[in-house]
Amino acid sequence: MQVQDWRSLFPEASEQQWGDWRWQMRHSIRSLEQLARLMPLTDDERRGCEETREMFRLGISPYYLSLVDRQHPFCPVRMQAIPTRAEARIRPGELRDPLGEDPHRPVPAIVHKYPDRVLFLALDSCSTYCRHCTRRRITKGGEAVLGREAWAEGIEYVRAHREVRDVLISGGDPLLLVDERLDALLGELRAIPHVEMIRIGTRVTVTLPMRVTEALAALLRRHAPLFVVTHFNHSKELTPEAREACERLVDHGVPVENQTVLMRRVNSDARIIRELNHALLRARVRPYYLHQMDVAEGLEHLRTPIAAGVAILEQLRGHTTGLAVPHLAVDLPGGGGKVTLQPEYVVERRGHETVFRNYRGEPYVYPEPEETDCSCPYDSVWVGRARG
Ligand SMILES: *Cc1c(COP(=O)(O)O)cnc(C)c1O
Repeated sequence: MQVQDWRSLFPEASEQQWGDWRWQMRHSIRSLEQLARLMPLTDDERRGCEETREMFRLGISPYYLSLVDRQHPFCPVRMQAIPTRAEARIRPGELRDPLGEDPHRPVPAIVHKYPDRVLFLALDSCSTYCRHCTRRRITKGGEAVLGREAWAEGIEYVRAHREVRDVLISGGDPLLLVDERLDALLGELRAIPHVEMIRIGTRVTVTLPMRVTEALAALLRRHAPLFVVTHFNHSKELTPEAREACERLVDHGVPVENQTVLMRRVNSDARIIRELNHALLRARVRPYYLHQMDVAEGLEHLRTPIAAGVAILEQLRGHTTGLAVPHLAVDLPGGGGKVTLQPEYVVERRGHETVFRNYRGEPYVYPEPEETDCSCPYDSVWVGRARG
């Protein structure tokens, strides 16, 4: 494994500039020419950059680029940051809007697919553009203006829909907003009485950890209950800086969860997922979802068979800490929402007992009880009291 020290890659940067997220954003690598000056590219990557130029943004933070193994084209950081030709190949059946979100967008900033929670699209830019981005129709820019007007409409929508108790802010990466704007958005959402909790989906902990300043962590804490959902895909990304960013959030009282996208030849191996999840737990981050790759345009080369994810889960459940076992989710193409998968542990259902196999494959019998009435007599009293 070869990681170039950032000082030799960006000799003009001072220590202080390197640790400043705005400097990182200003020096983000946005073209093949810039990239080729910084590292040797394969032919496939050069042509990938050219052929995807009109299709999706190229953008890599200097920090994330410094994690790339310059000697190995299959470096997981490299594969997430640098396009190859495969990405320009759109196959029949691949979808521009793979999760069928657009029919559930009452206003441009809101995706409302589930009964009690919405996705709030806060902006369309990122610090690094993931090559596996599923919402690239939005993050490529120009799809919808997610500015002040769209925000106001989105907030108004949430205010008018009293069933919405959970708002998941995404985009784009909401933590690219400056503190003042983020604080204003969170404040407006928090002021809505029926909004019980907020989640922020972000990748800055992975690609721009210097964004997680003390001030940001304190700001997020003020809007509790607020959860940060981050997106680590490989333990190589859990650098000391990334770890510090996660721990800073947790130290301030902001719980952090992680979602991983399962990608063929990037992290499609039980050993890699186990090591990642152990490293996350050491940083006090809880693995939440392991996502099956969406049927998005140009991503066939990164998709795994459904069975591969199930096989990985099978090698985790029982074998390691339950907290290190994420939910394996398939977000159904066409807008059905997420469903979860797990290995089949039920061997046989008989009249009065169920036969399981455990994680070692040994059979065990669970006897069913005689009584089956599961209604809770105190509940009507309790609900009556809660409504007051
Ligand atoms: C994933 C997702 C959510 C959140 O789902 P959870 O299972 O509650 O984490 C909400 N809205 C949309 C549109 C989503 O895709």
